[in-house]
Amino acid sequence: MTIVHCRECHQDVERHAKTCPHCHAEIPGESKLLLAAKYALFFVILAALIYVLFNFVGG
Ligand SMILES: [Zn+2]
Repeated sequence: MTIVHCRECHQDVERHAKTCPHCHAEIPGESKLLLAAKYALFFVILAALIYVLFNFVGG
């Protein structure tokens, strides 16, 4: 269990809480932008890995 700050009221909330217990904001631990950025980063890393792998195999 990790404590983070709510993106709305900035009080302590559990990382994976669905709503903030203080201000009832949805998914207080992660902004939607941050989630999108995480997915983008994941695909960038995946693409880079595939690129490196193909270059390595191809010699
Ligand atoms: Zn809050």
